[in-house]
Amino acid sequence: MAFSVETDARLTSVDITDQLAAAIPNDLSTGIATAFVEHTTAGLIVQENESRLRGDLEGFFDDLVPDDGHAHDQLDGNADSHLRAALVGPDVTIPVRDGDLALGTWQSVFVLECDGPRTRTVSVTTVGK
Ligand code: ZN
Repeated sequence: MAFSVETDARLTSVDITDQLAAAIPNDLSTGIATAFVEHTTAGLIVQENESRLRGDLEGFFDDLVPDDGHAHDQLDGNADSHLRAALVGPDVTIPVRDGDLALGTWQSVFVLECDGPRTRTVSVTTVGK
């Protein structure tokens, strides 16, 4: 299955934990869930949903990659977005235990948007019994 995520800024994070939890099939008790964002300028991360930390993370990825001076910018001007997404990767895998995501107390799952605002598609694949 898959779901859509709306983002509202060029570089931002959107908590998708509830949508991911809702995507776990009712008949799955123990296994894994893999979420995969189907884009080259967004990624998935597991982090704490605390507003100052989210600002820190967004600033960190903004600072880490220079905005300009990349070859791909000659095509569509968003090489920095691709490079930030490449650092993060497109997927996360979460254990499923007793039918729920087995996340730690402070863990949430986020789309890291690197070239918004856009509508992003996240697919979810589960394995288990
Ligand atoms: Zn591009």
